[in-house]
Amino acid sequence: MATDSITVGAGRVVGEKALFGMAAEELRGVVEGLGLQKYRAVQLGDALYKQRVERLEEVTTLPAEVRERLAAEGYRVGLPEIVQTAKSVDGTERYLMRMGDGETVETVWMPGGDGGERGDGSEAAVEEEGEDTEQGSVTPASQDRSPGTPTVTPASQDRSPGTPTGNREQGPPGLSKGKYGDSDSSSQNDERKGSQNDEREGEKQSPCGNDKQEAGGYKRATICVSSQVGCAVNCQFCLTAKLGMRRNLTAGEIAGQVAAVLNRQRVRIGSGKGVETPAGAKISRINLVFMGMGEPFLNYDAFMKSVHVLRGMGIPESRMTVSTSGIEPSIRRFAEEPVRPKLALSLNASNDAVRREIMPITKKWDIAALLEAVRAIPFGKREYVTFEYVLLGGVNDQPKHAREVLALLKGMKAKVNLIVWNPGPGIDYRQPTAEDVAVFHRMLIDGGIPTFTRRPRGRDIFAACGQLKRTVEPGLELVEIAR
Ligand code: SF4
Repeated sequence: MATDSITVGAGRVVGEKALFGMAAEELRGVVEGLGLQKYRAVQLGDALYKQRVERLEEVTTLPAEVRERLAAEGYRVGLPEIVQTAKSVDGTERYLMRMGDGETVETVWMPGGDGGERGDGSEAAVEEEGEDTEQGSVTPASQDRSPGTPTVTPASQDRSPGTPTGNREQGPPGLSKGKYGDSDSSSQNDERKGSQNDEREGEKQSPCGNDKQEAGGYKRATICVSSQVGCAVNCQFCLTAKLGMRRNLTAGEIAGQVAAVLNRQRVRIGSGKGVETPAGAKISRINLVFMGMGEPFLNYDAFMKSVHVLRGMGIPESRMTVSTSGIEPSIRRFAEEPVRPKLALSLNASNDAVRREIMPITKKWDIAALLEAVRAIPFGKREYVTFEYVLLGGVNDQPKHAREVLALLKGMKAKVNLIVWNPGPGIDYRQPTAEDVAVFHRMLIDGGIPTFTRRPRGRDIFAACGQLKRTVEPGLELVEIAR
């Protein structure tokens, strides 16, 4: 049970207990503790995870007296609050999310996907991705001439694309079916069917099958989720590392970022038509990538619990990808999970010497140990493991490195996502040249590894990979949210 007890600064309240993130048995414990019947826990769960209510008053399936008793006992919904938004010229939105104790993390909304992590790892997705990105067209920031100016807006002043009204569509019942309401729920089946249909539709509608902005909307969107406040891993190319480690997020705080973003974007899940939004956009699929602030595998239990909560919200694990810097014991635990998202390993170097330099955690678990742990995962027939590789100019981006990567991944069902390093203040690396990226990419393709060069998203608002860093520090007054 997540209980907040710290109480300084804006938005913090003593002794409040967050309901969002609780498993079904925990919700049963809450209602039984109030002397209520068990079915009230199902109603509460449906309100939290299907309707995505933001306040107890919105749980209209519970009598007002019950809601008041919950509030009197210190319970609250406990979703993170969006206190600041930054909008990129490419449509990406970065949110500063405030947790119950006032700590903040960042979460990113990428309409049209992120161009490299579709989260499903299926062959269909690989083909789609290949059509999008295989040619390796890359525009380093210095050459990017996109028109427009990014904007940063306090949440209280920002009304686009729509403020949730509390009239979100009621999802299907049945939360009591699983621990988190996530086993075989009709919403997930709907979503899966919807995804399949959309893939077929996408094939018909667009030669690229996805990611193309359509009139009035887009086909898919990806949410990049944080798992910790700060990070202890200290990758040398990453802005988040500059924060150091402050604390783990709870499962409710991890999954709650997704709920908060979906509410803001007015995305409905489980309506029988897959994923949709009444705001005019045509989203058919939501992908989640756990690639925001923090190392999910150093917050393993909360992360895995959040996966189940998110399934209870109607997002199947096949649409989730978790990225790890390489926490070998957690990879081994992950291999044993009956339900698990797709895995991405941040390789970022072709040998231990370079990796130790840019990712000091390599001193604890070297590349060979990580690859051995990854090989032990029982991958499905159509499943690949993704290796992410941040290209740092002159450090790991030369043909000799590409050859070493090919040797490392030989015989593995692997694909590689190349990420052109995103600059950040105080980080002393340089971007690779477009030519070096193209050569690296081509060498991996020619060596038989499906390879994609991720389009940079939201780089102008510091929302791209490795750029997430809270823009508001603790102690500063945050902007209150207008209801
Ligand atoms: S890249 Fe990921 S694991 Fe490494 S310091 Fe940044 S947030 Fe942590």
